[in-house]
Amino acid sequence: SAAQAGLYTASDQIVLLSPDSVEAVMVNSTAAVLAEFYASWCGHCIAFSPVYKSLATDIREWKPAVQLAAVDCAAEENRKLCTDFSIRAYPTIKFFHAYSKADSTGASFRASSHDVAVLRHRVIDKLENHQEPWPPACPPLEPTSQAEIDSFFETNNVQHLALIFEDSKSYVGREVTLDLLQFENVAVRRVLSSEEALVNKLQVTEFPSCYLYSAAGNSSRLRVNMEARVFYSYALQRLPGVVRSGKPPPVNEAVLINRTEEQWRPFNRSRVYMADLESVLHYSLRVELAAHTLIRGQDLTALRKYISVLTKFFPGRPVVMNLLDYVNTRLQNHTDKEISYETFREWLDNTDQSADTALPEGVRWVGCQGSQPHLRRYPCGMWTLFHVLTVQAKSIGGTDPQEVLSAMRNYVHSFFGCRDCAEHFEIMARESLVEVNTFPAAVLWLWSRHNRVNNRVAGALSEDPNFPKVQWPSPEMCPTCHTVKENGEHRWIPEQVLPFLLSHFSSSSILTDYLE
Ligand code: FAD
Repeated sequence: SAAQAGLYTASDQIVLLSPDSVEAVMVNSTAAVLAEFYASWCGHCIAFSPVYKSLATDIREWKPAVQLAAVDCAAEENRKLCTDFSIRAYPTIKFFHAYSKADSTGASFRASSHDVAVLRHRVIDKLENHQEPWPPACPPLEPTSQAEIDSFFETNNVQHLALIFEDSKSYVGREVTLDLLQFENVAVRRVLSSEEALVNKLQVTEFPSCYLYSAAGNSSRLRVNMEARVFYSYALQRLPGVVRSGKPPPVNEAVLINRTEEQWRPFNRSRVYMADLESVLHYSLRVELAAHTLIRGQDLTALRKYISVLTKFFPGRPVVMNLLDYVNTRLQNHTDKEISYETFREWLDNTDQSADTALPEGVRWVGCQGSQPHLRRYPCGMWTLFHVLTVQAKSIGGTDPQEVLSAMRNYVHSFFGCRDCAEHFEIMARESLVEVNTFPAAVLWLWSRHNRVNNRVAGALSEDPNFPKVQWPSPEMCPTCHTVKENGEHRWIPEQVLPFLLSHFSSSSILTDYLE
């Protein structure tokens, strides 16, 4: 289809325009729209597409105020659409104000740069100069003053006011304001270093820096590792009382512990638990696989590879390892082209073997507990399991750096019950799994793809308010993993992330609490 032939997919945080969708997206929209008109055969467009994707991810939180869109003008069915917008060269990017009319052809937007920061700043410039009516979801972006602050709490019903002090050229204040627009109970305003009354009152000496200002007129400096956008946004999104709009507030840990439906198991959020890993094995092998009465072809290959990497790299208790070994051997000796789930299940339940060979029945989620029964659990355990396996393969030393990832890819493709997840994962695997040719690269590949998923699903209904999606590890968990570039952009330090992952997921750090 046209959507697949184009340069973007539905999971890029970019709305794909078509003759059917164009009106709903562009006309009378409450958000401004940045639209890229491209031709899928054009070299510049192909070169620009990763930049546009990064921009979409980078300003994902701004969507209610400004939405990114794209349309492939090379597709026959879009020809008229692109003509109607007077597009003659590719790529062309246009900015459409909120509440644009059907005949609007948009304002020009310079896309000459491949630097996401530059493009982001241009988006802010466009928003700031937005004509009336202003997009309702877009917070004020102009600098604030002592006078406005004095009456702020009379007209705004929020718990926290964050003031970002900065030079007039800095964009950090406006970026953080927009990053927080989908969060309740917090407002952000920029204060220019030239606003002497406020600068003196709070005794501000560093620009940028961020202060929390209370209704009572007290202020305190926001403590961050670095005075930069991501660190401010991350810290502000996690202030007490701040919640994503439309989400229930997090449940107090004490309430969870006293819940009667299921025992809550207190746990350490920065550790990995064997109980979760065994629960994943139980769920995947006894519940998920059970949906396939007869397993054959590529499904059978996927099952063999899954059991094989588990046998090699699962850092399990001897009793579980014995069982995995046993099942693996039976599978290898099974020369038929297919296997019934019933047969597989007999091996798994292993009724004729001794007691030191078994996979415990049932699930006992610990680190993957959710504040509600439909949150976290199995998918959380699945990620954890494969992070542990990539790390084990690196430390034990397998022969093929892609072995674990390709087992995961095949398992997810054949069996993972969340079909959307499987489709997205397959796209990522197809894109770049071939580039993985060392064991550390495999560990880092899974880490970075998992972060892409975190980015995509942040704020979704499946997000547990008690466990908000973050780019992981957070600055608190691994301060040295993060830095900012000269231009103020966030950057991971892979040389720090790798040892962090190797230690976090290593077999010796796995806790055995709550095992039966
Ligand atoms: P999870 O994201 O499940 O993470 C589990 C634990 O791993 C975290 O608690 C944290 O300790 C650690 N962690 C977090 N990020 C990283 C990282 N980058 N590297 C290493 N460790 C990390 N849901 C969707 O809505 N759409 C999808 O397309 C989608 N695709 C998925 C694809 C796969 C293969 C899987 C296994 C799951 C997918 N999910 C998807 C589910 C989603 O990713 C989460 O698993 C689910 O929402 C539960 O989230 P969680 O808060 O428990 O944390």
